[in-house]
Amino acid sequence: MADLRTLLGDVAARAADHRARVREVAVFPRGEPVAAVRAGLGSLRDEGADPAVVLAELAAAVEPGLVATTGPRYFGFVVGGALDSATAADMLAVAWDQPAFNAVTSPAAAVVEDVAGAWLKELLGLPQTASTGFVTGAQGANTVGLAAARHRVLADAGWDVEQNGLAGAPAVRVLATGERHATIDRSLRLLGLGAGALQPVATDEQGRIDVAALAGALEGGPPGRVVVCLQAGNVNTGACDDLAAAVPLAHRYGAWVHVDGAFGLWAAASPTTRHLVEGVAAADSWATDGHKWLNVPYDSGYAFCADPEAHRAAMAYTAAYLTGQGQGDLRAPGDHVPESSRRARGFATWAALRELGRSGVAGLVERCCALARRFAAEASAVEGVAVVNDVVLNQVLLRFGDDDATTDAVVAAVQRSGECWMGATTWHGMRLMRVSVSNWSTTEADVDRAVRAVATAWRGAR
Ligand SMILES: *Cc1c(COP(=O)(O)O)cnc(C)c1O
Repeated sequence: MADLRTLLGDVAARAADHRARVREVAVFPRGEPVAAVRAGLGSLRDEGADPAVVLAELAAAVEPGLVATTGPRYFGFVVGGALDSATAADMLAVAWDQPAFNAVTSPAAAVVEDVAGAWLKELLGLPQTASTGFVTGAQGANTVGLAAARHRVLADAGWDVEQNGLAGAPAVRVLATGERHATIDRSLRLLGLGAGALQPVATDEQGRIDVAALAGALEGGPPGRVVVCLQAGNVNTGACDDLAAAVPLAHRYGAWVHVDGAFGLWAAASPTTRHLVEGVAAADSWATDGHKWLNVPYDSGYAFCADPEAHRAAMAYTAAYLTGQGQGDLRAPGDHVPESSRRARGFATWAALRELGRSGVAGLVERCCALARRFAAEASAVEGVAVVNDVVLNQVLLRFGDDDATTDAVVAAVQRSGECWMGATTWHGMRLMRVSVSNWSTTEADVDRAVRAVATAWRGAR
């Protein structure tokens, strides 16, 4: 016991040290991280080792390959930081080691997911009657939402897809824009609908669905069941589809509406951005992430479904010994996700929501948006640098000079600088630097420092 206390105390100290250092260190490690980590890990031994030795070896081996993703100047992809409470709660979740598939294996895990799920729905402006699944991320949540959609549209057509599969089933059309996230395609592949079920719908210049084009696609397509995938938060521009128009339109044609709101759904949590997702509550299923804007550690995402029966029909266990293991109105977590045995994801989410409260979540969203606007304003003041999107949320797209190669060179130089990290994207035929401000700990000084690093890289490249 004394040894375990020492071991876990040492781990806590290492965790705290790492989280303090991410402000100071090169954001992406210098040198040859892959080779260094591989060399540090060594080969499988015949004999084992003391846990303290194991941890010391592991920490030393991976150090040269750790990226400061949880730090304030990581602006790549849409990577969130990790709040202190949520990080600590996740450490406890691992120590408690609860198999969180139902209320019998862990009443604590089941109740916490139930309560945190209700809090999430309230913050995101979703109906309290919606069912919730705690999944690994928006990829998992898109899969769950589209599985529920597949169930409902085919059940309405008299087809039992869970029993009979898709061979011989009525055709299902999926309407989505060319600016959908790549995870939608993967979910459709996994669900057997295939990427071929997709019918692209045009967008406007910010990547929002063209509602008139959606009307045309709903009207003009071949007969068959329809699923419409909308987006709250375009991964490049941050733009949100006009949900207030598109959701009722799709419903007039009997379509199921799924909203991919991996980060953009969080616009609902602040009165300053809520208008961007007006009408979202009328959709049928929603996907969002905990590990992006809520700043819960990886991995954490949520699937919500306005049709709990379709949700459970698509996901629940059918083996008799595993079904019905919710208690009273306490649902079984495992009946709402694709995984069976799973980590208790609710603890970290509950902790994040308790640390921030309603005002803290709103403040986090507002702060990230204000910092994104600051980034855009400062960067566009540099000669030859253009912001190419309307900065409505936390995403900024930058173009350097007017050719792709220069922009790629600036991105590479910024990444090498270690000052900050952002990636490149291709959007509307252009190579661009994509900046995402999604971390609770990012300050104005961090943004100013990052813009200086970008300006320096641009001067070097031109
Ligand atoms: C990030 C993202 C996803 C995928 O989320 P994961 O957390 O990587 O599973 C899906 N859709 C959008 C719009 C995203 O930004």
